[in-house]
Amino acid sequence: MNWLKNFVRPKLRELVGGQKEVPENLWHKCSNCSQMIFHRDLEKNLHVCQHCGHHMRLGADARLELLFDEDGFETIKLPEVAADPLKFKDLKRYSDRIKEARAKTGVNDALKVAFGTMGGNNVVVAVFDFSFMGGSMGLAVGEGLLTAARQAVSRHAPLVVIPSSGGARMQEGIHSLMQMARTTIAVDEVKQAGLPYIVVLTDPTTGGVTASFAMLGDIAIAEPGSVIGFAGQRVIEQTIRETLPEGFQRAEYLLEHGMVDMVVERTALRDTLIRVIDLLMNKTIDEDAIPAPEVPLVSEDLEPALVDVAAVSEENVELPPPPDIAAPKTDTDAEGDSAEASPDSPPDAPLVIDHEPDPKQS
Ligand SMILES: [Zn+2]
Repeated sequence: MNWLKNFVRPKLRELVGGQKEVPENLWHKCSNCSQMIFHRDLEKNLHVCQHCGHHMRLGADARLELLFDEDGFETIKLPEVAADPLKFKDLKRYSDRIKEARAKTGVNDALKVAFGTMGGNNVVVAVFDFSFMGGSMGLAVGEGLLTAARQAVSRHAPLVVIPSSGGARMQEGIHSLMQMARTTIAVDEVKQAGLPYIVVLTDPTTGGVTASFAMLGDIAIAEPGSVIGFAGQRVIEQTIRETLPEGFQRAEYLLEHGMVDMVVERTALRDTLIRVIDLLMNKTIDEDAIPAPEVPLVSEDLEPALVDVAAVSEENVELPPPPDIAAPKTDTDAEGDSAEASPDSPPDAPLVIDHEPDPKQS
């Protein structure tokens, strides 16, 4: 019947007036409810199905545009890493897979990091692109997250990470697994600087990504219906030989069981993030008490903040008698102790703890 398609149809089309065939990609089929959605409606709805509310996967660029303020954002260049450190080959060479993925997606690897303002607040955002090898975490992603964390610290901005990943990139073997430890340390640097670390879990967040930085957020937000878990449902079922409950490993299930703080629809995501960041960055105290956030050392950074907060609360609240009697004594005592301890080893208080066990051992 090929002649019908190849000969008759074009002839008919010529007769009718050369109308072009409607390209298939103008319509998108929802994978959840199978309804057809016009591409413009889909974009307008931020790739959320208007019929059933299913949240489809979103590319890194679209997500950054959705979250940052209108004046845009600056993409942070990520360091180059060793490509194919193990010279790995399965059905294809790993180096060929990377080349293909780069050609297909136009990005260098699965992570993109950007800096900009969100509701007027400075924010560093690291977002995964699932279309690049399933958003898998290898050397490049680990290095990228480390860069993002350090940018957040140096710019005194909160870090928002948006994973969408199948887990560690197996073609990099142990190198990819090491990124779990590295990204955990990266997140810790942000926390030690007293900055908020927020994770927006999107579909899917699984494997080594879940087992490291993705579950360490001060605030864990998830998109509706996202699959979030370590091992896949089928693997668990086969291992424990039990049927898992409905909705297992979905965002709502995790919310119910206390693994996630909020499930937020994509349309409300930006506003929610702005509200959370506003609260955590505590603007009122920042503006009144902390003049410049350009202090490099963490310990030094924390001390003035504490002093200033104390000063503010004393000014505001009527507490003259109690502090005179009780607080100054303990304060001066504590300061005296730390002053005595500090000259030998300036920055860290925990060193005192280190000294105690030593005599016992020796
Ligand atoms: Zn749908």
